[in-house]
Amino acid sequence: MKGKFYALALSILGMASAASAQDLRLTSSKTPTIPGRQCATMDVLQAQLAADPSLAKRMATIEAQTHTFQANPASIASRTTAGVVTIPVVVHVVYKTAAENVSTAQVQAQIDVLNKDFAKLNSDANLVPSAFSGLAANTNIQFVLAQRDPNGNPSNGIVRTLTKTTSWSSNDAVKNAKRGGSNAWPTSSYLNLWVCNLGQGLLGYAQFPGGSASTDGVVVLYSSLPNGSAAPYNKGRTATHEVGHWLNLRHIWGDASCGNDLVSDTPTQQTANYGCPSFPHVTCNNQGDMSMNYMDYTDDACMYMFSTGQSTRMNALFGAGGARASLATSLGGTAPRQMATTKPEVQLFPNPATQTLNVTLPAEKATTWTVKVYDLLGYEMKQARYNGKSQVAVSGLPQGLYQVVISDGQQTIRQRFQKE
Ligand SMILES: [Zn+2]
Repeated sequence: MKGKFYALALSILGMASAASAQDLRLTSSKTPTIPGRQCATMDVLQAQLAADPSLAKRMATIEAQTHTFQANPASIASRTTAGVVTIPVVVHVVYKTAAENVSTAQVQAQIDVLNKDFAKLNSDANLVPSAFSGLAANTNIQFVLAQRDPNGNPSNGIVRTLTKTTSWSSNDAVKNAKRGGSNAWPTSSYLNLWVCNLGQGLLGYAQFPGGSASTDGVVVLYSSLPNGSAAPYNKGRTATHEVGHWLNLRHIWGDASCGNDLVSDTPTQQTANYGCPSFPHVTCNNQGDMSMNYMDYTDDACMYMFSTGQSTRMNALFGAGGARASLATSLGGTAPRQMATTKPEVQLFPNPATQTLNVTLPAEKATTWTVKVYDLLGYEMKQARYNGKSQVAVSGLPQGLYQVVISDGQQTIRQRFQKE
């Protein structure tokens, strides 16, 4: 899957001294030349599969659920009639230089590109050749910058982190505050999108459904955002491609010679296409590669469609038992209501607690409010269960400080307690 040219370029880069690579960045405000679209998603997957034997099993379970969904026209139809899934996005801007600290307007422009591409509202959709025009799909999936953080506080959906790191790789350090990056928000409620100076000639990489929550999401090179400096990869299509992976799409050539991308309506093709091929580019006895698909390696200006089969595969994640179904009901994209001027009285006791935490709620609403327990990083603690009757079982929690978040969807009350 990797072009020989790229392997050569990498080995040359590897031979260059660290000092000269540093100089290149210090003396130039532009991004070092990208040798050709390169996405590390499959390399990251191989490394994760090697490190975690249980990942293959989780991915196989997701694949089985996807097959069931694909084989059932009723489930596909019910997803369509259920309306658009709008995914709350948190954008982690991890920057060292002013150029890497992309503007809020540029982040919004990236979200806008995602929304157009995933809805087939992109202005270049008319370029799809007639052989494929019947297959170009509106995926029914949309994106919105988060309007509340995991603790229920108002947010603009952008987390800015100043770092000492000059250049990042696909090793997920950018997703880790202890390594100079920014920690993921709960992946059950948000798409995490990291924007940084990704090195190694990479434009981006993503994690497929089934991987670890702490690294779930998408990483893109900061200059690949719309109007960035990474031409011809600066129309925001790197994010479209990587979010495609995050929604379980494989590269269009199936990452093998005439490989299988697990989608039936995309033609089998020999390998990645680069640049801007003219149609038809015939390989593997097909009628022409679908090189204008977002999951190929073509220039941003030369990719402008998802297929119906790809759309179905992505939507399976939001069907019954789907791996990302919880995002469809996330409140992350909805602004929290202003707190009432008089807070209802809430008491937690005993505090510290060992087995059971009692919660006194306003009497008239005790049954309708949700009570959830989070750690101080904002991850929901599934071990702590509210019984709907003013008690939370906490015996399964590790010792430490936690936050109880009590909400009726309009008001949110947060209080800390200690588990002993
Ligand atoms: Zn890719």
